[in-house]
Amino acid sequence: MHKDKTVLVTGGAGFIGSALVRFLINETSHRVINLDKLTYAGNLESLTSIESNERYHFILGDICDRPLVDDILKRYQPDIIMHLAAESHVDRSIDGPDEFIQTNILGTYTLLEASRSYLAELEGCKQQDFRFHHISTDEVYGDLGETGLFTEQSPYNPSSPYSASKAASDHLVRAWCRTFQLPVVITNCSNNYGPFQFPEKLIPLVILNALEGKPLPVYGDGKQVRDWLYVDDHARALYKVATDGKPGSTYNIGGYNEKQNIDVITTICDQLNSLIESKPSGIEEFNQLITYVKDRPGHDLRYAIDATKIKNELGWKPVETFESGIVKTIQWYLDNLEWCRHIRDGSYRKISANDNNQM
Ligand code: NAD
Repeated sequence: MHKDKTVLVTGGAGFIGSALVRFLINETSHRVINLDKLTYAGNLESLTSIESNERYHFILGDICDRPLVDDILKRYQPDIIMHLAAESHVDRSIDGPDEFIQTNILGTYTLLEASRSYLAELEGCKQQDFRFHHISTDEVYGDLGETGLFTEQSPYNPSSPYSASKAASDHLVRAWCRTFQLPVVITNCSNNYGPFQFPEKLIPLVILNALEGKPLPVYGDGKQVRDWLYVDDHARALYKVATDGKPGSTYNIGGYNEKQNIDVITTICDQLNSLIESKPSGIEEFNQLITYVKDRPGHDLRYAIDATKIKNELGWKPVETFESGIVKTIQWYLDNLEWCRHIRDGSYRKISANDNNQM
């Protein structure tokens, strides 16, 4: 079952996309085509462990480029498209929403239209098995009060330009399913963490700033609650949904790990206190570096996911608890300071001629 398919992954050089590509190459026998524009968030150094595998193929390009997308579909004939390419950082969407509208909305629209034309040309059985998997976020639901969980029926109520652009793309995907019978599945997932995450996001930012003796910024009172999911658990869930999910269905994915931001930060400090003997100068405990800063505008108070549907229908549940996942994550960053240094000095953006595969 599910043998030797071709999977087109968009955004496969990003944080979650690269975890998914590594999973597909290491755990399945599928061919993987990675279409990525390599924005600041795309990093081919996250894929060095699988880049020479003959089932892996990288294409540098933009999902908004319709002729390119048409060419890729025609040439590689994917059985599954797993669409992760996006602008993903909320703070950046507040500073400059343009790219978010372009990639998240128009890019998704381009892929949907290209998929519709591609599907019309496919033979019966290949057409029947085709899936367009749109990867989205729980942020489309807005924020929860102190109790309750987001289910697949929760109304959309996005707060930031990022979540509004993802909500718009979710609606487009559902409309293409309903109106044009495109066989889609959608997943809405909680906050991810783990190895290879770009250091603008909370957990790697805190780890790396602490090691350098820099302030650990906490928005507002730090009491915002997020549900944390270890990225490899997410990659497994995505594959389950892409291969076994019911066409037209949405699945929420969560880690059952609700934590206040301030507790995430103090957990990291406590771990680092016990792991690092020689602290940066003037520091006895990393917790001293915690610095409260002005809250983000429109900051949602709480997100939490009810992941019952994916558990009952597809048998998926996370393997990692926050306590086990955060230890692995911290250790990964301590062991991979070179990967982090290449991001901080910008050298990760230099791509070689081999990587520049335009087809
Ligand atoms: P990321 O920012 O780390 O990676 C995004 C990738 O998309 C990068 O490799 C980038 O180069 C690529 N990309 C951007 N614009 C592109 C374009 N126009 N054409 C082709 N490639 C382009 O993001 P991530 O954290 O890995 O998130 C992946 C997906 O999962 C996103 O759709 C995001 O909305 C969703 N998601 C993320 C989280 C999370 O916690 N990070 C949670 C739930 C859902």
